Amino acid sequence: MKDCIFCKIVAGEAPAEVVYEDERVLAFKDINPLAPVHILIVPRLHLATLNDLQPEHKDLVSHIFKVAIELAHKFKIDKGYRVVTNCGADGGQIIFHLHFHLLGGKVFDHNLV
Ligand code: AMP
Ligand code: ZN
Repeated sequence: MKDCIFCKIVAGEAPAEVVYEDERVLAFKDINPLAPVHILIVPRLHLATLNDLQPEHKDLVSHIFKVAIELAHKFKIDKGYRVVTNCGADGGQIIFHLHFHLLGGKVFDHNLV
């Protein structure tokens, strides 16, 4: 989608430190990391938010979580990590191209907010 920074990264038109890619998703390091490991897993398909997911996307969503688990192993955070998606402005979403944060390399407490 025009003017979407994550679409530009997916298209190779904007820089990113890519750590994984396949035909459906791209994963790259967050530019402003909030944990020692902070990776964004992004579908190549432009969907603005979690609310845009449809039944036809169920394989994509399970694939994203499979990639998250693989990256947790690769970056040696599989002992404990978080996968987070912010949905909508009130959910703290800033980039309106669906993405999942993979956060690890530190000990989180049980509080989500
Ligand atoms: P969210 O609040 O879930 O929309 O988070 C958007 C995330 O994207 C933030 O953690 C930003 O630091 C990150 N971000 C924004 N632009 C870029 C970029 N060009 N490359 C990598 N990460 C980015
Ligand atoms: Zn996009």
